[in-house]
Order: sequence, then structure tokens, then C-alpha cells
Amino acid sequence: MNKIKYKDKLKVLHIASELTPIAKAGGLGDVVGALPKELAREFQIENRVIMPKYRSIDTGKFPAELIIKDIKIKMPYGRWQKISVWKTFVPETIVPVYLIDCPAFFPGEGVYDHRIKNLHQTFPFFYLSWIALNLLKSFDWFPDVIHCHDGMIGMIPKWLKTIYIKDPFYSKIASVFTIHNLNHQPIIKLSEIKYLGLKRQAFKKLRSFLKRDDINISAEAIDNADMINTVSPTYAREIMTKKYGAGLHRLLKENKKRFTGILNGIDYSNFDPRTNDDTPVKYWIDTLDKKNENKLFLQKRFGLTQSPDLPLICAVTRLTPQKGLDLIGDVLKELVNMGAQFIILGSGSEKIEKIFIKAEKEYPKSVAAEMKFDANLAQTIYAGADMLLMPSRFEPCGLSQIIAMRFGTIPIVRKTGGLADTVRDGYTGFVFRHYDKNAFLWAIRRAVDVYYNQKDYWRRMQIRAMKKDFSWKASAKKYLWAYKKAIRNHREYLRAENDQDKKS
Ligand code: ADP
Repeated sequence: MNKIKYKDKLKVLHIASELTPIAKAGGLGDVVGALPKELAREFQIENRVIMPKYRSIDTGKFPAELIIKDIKIKMPYGRWQKISVWKTFVPETIVPVYLIDCPAFFPGEGVYDHRIKNLHQTFPFFYLSWIALNLLKSFDWFPDVIHCHDGMIGMIPKWLKTIYIKDPFYSKIASVFTIHNLNHQPIIKLSEIKYLGLKRQAFKKLRSFLKRDDINISAEAIDNADMINTVSPTYAREIMTKKYGAGLHRLLKENKKRFTGILNGIDYSNFDPRTNDDTPVKYWIDTLDKKNENKLFLQKRFGLTQSPDLPLICAVTRLTPQKGLDLIGDVLKELVNMGAQFIILGSGSEKIEKIFIKAEKEYPKSVAAEMKFDANLAQTIYAGADMLLMPSRFEPCGLSQIIAMRFGTIPIVRKTGGLADTVRDGYTGFVFRHYDKNAFLWAIRRAVDVYYNQKDYWRRMQIRAMKKDFSWKASAKKYLWAYKKAIRNHREYLRAENDQDKKS
């Protein structure tokens, strides 16, 4: 365990649904697993994390200690709820992670398998947030900033500026709201407000602004947070436009002064082909030939034709329309005709699964589909593949392409969001602009052409991609800036409120 001493006074609480490797469903988990670690290591920030204790968490691998047993917390709807708290750490750090044990709100197995009867599916996370706020007094620990990860945790900024604003313990806490994916907006019915401890009146402002009858918690978070960010500069610009703003572009534009884009990094200690446990034959820039042995391993594992010369293309992805999987489905035939092979590891929509299961049956020696979430297999695939496809319709940041680059696997991406910020056409990858089969196919053809016919240039591209540094250091510094700005904005807000009180 790293010995880190906290010298800076800044204290940050992260509230989140995922934290890699303890519980992961996508990129959000990677961010929450890496950012607190980096903030502690580089800037001596005292971070803590609060998340649910899912049944799927392997407490053998991540030993947790029961620190609070069966305390009762008064919920916003007035009833008392019994919970317990377990403590573990972000692996290899002294950053504490408090796991909230509450089967009444988190009855399912995995990260997003929970539902409270008759309530919107996000309520377990609203309640997690409420419990987190209430626990701070029991911990006797006061954070300067609460970092809220995505719309699920969007009630924190609202509660801090309403129910808790007059409580001296909470009134000074600033909030930062990170939009990991703007399309994930919890929109609840008016009739559900009472379960949040607030009256209709408290939501009046945005109801007239957004002209809708229901309540959008992401919008409330944008309106109330002291600082808002999303996970890449391009996506930040994009979501202020109608095309990408998912209904909130005007609100974001209006709050532009508090809104910024901070590119995600990756934790290179997890994704290093020299040391990665899931890479059968370790390699680096000076031993890149060995990557082919990983390719042969994959070809064998998936029953594809075994040959180091065939270009092996992969996708590691959630199966949602966002990821442009229909475009991949559309080009599979051409891809096979080019002599390329394709492996997809994906989980999510059954309808999308079918596209790839069908293709696997049609081209058993060239296409393989593994329809599940498997973090270990994902890394074996990054290690053995030559190229990665990510033709997303939109992409807040995207981590798969960054991980792939570290493994010398050349990304073929659409120029949107974080993909536009991380992949350079003809330099570290291949980029196309329009969401269109032919544009995508053209990019794939260019890649396959370089792979076959310009082997030296291909190698140079791989080396450039592997050397790119998207580590958390630079991004963590920007978050530190955002936290400080949130604290300043919050002080200003309190001053303005005070002046208002005096006047009235
Ligand atoms: P998103 O957060 O939208 O899912 P990102 O590219 O930001 O997309 O992050 C995806 C992360 O989840 C990467 O670490 C990727 O390797 C991982 N991942 C996605 N799908 C799978 C899967 N089926 N099995 C294992 N890992 C996956």
C-alpha cells in the first residue's frame, strides 16, 4: 500500500455507482477507480468514496470491514431505514471506500440490477446519495466538495441548495457534477417528488424553463451544482448544441461559465502490455512482434483461422445504439471479404446481440461474438487484436480507444466527443466524420490497406499510439482546479443568498 500523507486541506467525497475494479459496468467505473487515486497521489487530496455494497462485489478479493452495523437513517420521505456500512479501499491506496449495505434499496446482484417498487429505476441511487449525506455527521467528516458522478447522483446538488442549505454542517459544502453520459437522465414523475423530501415549488424554475411536466434530475443537478463538467472538451462543446444536447443544450449554454470539459485518463498500471495479467505473452514497443502471439492465442480461443498475417479487428463495448453497432453490422460482410477477422465482446441489448450471433454463424472462421461482460477477456482481446472499431453516434470520452492504443491496437473511430480528442487520423488511428456506412468502410479500408501494404508505417503508428500519454495526472490537475472553482462559486452563492435574506 502506498504511504500517502495528506498535506493539503482540500477534502473531496465522491458518490458513485461504480468503481473499477470493485464494481464495474463501463467507463464511469474506470474514472471513479482512478481519479481519487491520482488526486491523493499527486495532490495529497483527502478523498473518500461512497457507493452501494452490491451482492456481486467479491469481498474475498476486496476485503471489507464492517464499521457501522444496523444504524437507522431518516429518509427524505420520513421513514427510517436500517443500513450498515463496510469499509474497504481503492486498491493499492489509502483512499477509503464506504460500501452502503442496504438490500431494501439494492436488492439485485450487479451494478444496475436494482429497482424499488413503483419508483423510477434511479431511486436506489437517490437514496444512496441521501444516506451518504447523512452519514457524514456520523463520520464526523466534512468534505469541502462532493463530487457527484452522473445524473443518478444528481440530487446531491439539489438537496445541498434546498433542505441542507440552512444546516451549518452542510451549508459550506460545494458540489461538482460530472456528466459521464448526458443521455442517462433520470426523469421522474411529479408524483414521485414526495419521496425526495421536496415540494413541487422547489422544482418550479426548471419546469417552466424546460416546459415539461416531469422532473429532470440531471437538469436540476446542472442548475444547482457549483461546477459542472463532462469528460472531454469536444463532448462539452457538442452537448451545448441541439443535436447532441439531449434536450439540455440550452440549459448547459446558459450555465456555460460553470461548465467545462475534462478529458478522462486511464490508469496505466491496469492497462500495460508489459505486466497485464490477461496478456498471455507480454510485450512492449521493442518487442512488438510478440503481439502476434497474442493474436494467435485469440484466434485459437475463438475458433478463427489461425494466422499471424490476417488483420484481426475487435470491438469491446456495451451493446447500445450509442456505440454505432448497426454500422459495424452493416460492414461485416465487406470486412470478411477484405480478409479481415472480427471479434466482439459486448453486453447489453439482445436485439444487438443477434446481429453478431448471426454473423458468427455465417462466418465461423472469421467472426466471433462473445456476448457478456468480462473485464479479463477484454484485456486479452486488446492485447491480441490489430484494430479496434468505435463508430459511436456520440461518445462522451470513450476509454476503449485509449486502452487499445496502449496495447498497440489501432483505433478506427468516428470524429465525435472524446474520440475526436484522443485519436489522430493517420497518426495514431483512423478517423471518419459522417455517421454513414461508406464513410466507416472507407476508414476501415484505409487501415487494412496500411496494415497489409505499409508494414513499417503500421509499426510506427502502433508505437505512436502506445506512447500516447492519457494518464490521469493532467486530468486530475484540472479536477483540482474545478474543485477550487466550485468552492469559490459556492461562497459567492452563499453571499448572494445572504444579501437577499437581508433585503427581504
Ligand atoms: P462506456 O463507458 O460508454 O461503456 P467507455 O469506452 O468509456 O464506454 O468505457 C468502456 C469500458 O468498459 C472500457 O474499460 C471497456 O474495456 C469496458 N467494457 C465495455 N464493454 C465490455 C465488456 N463487454 N466486457 C468487458 N469490458 C467491457
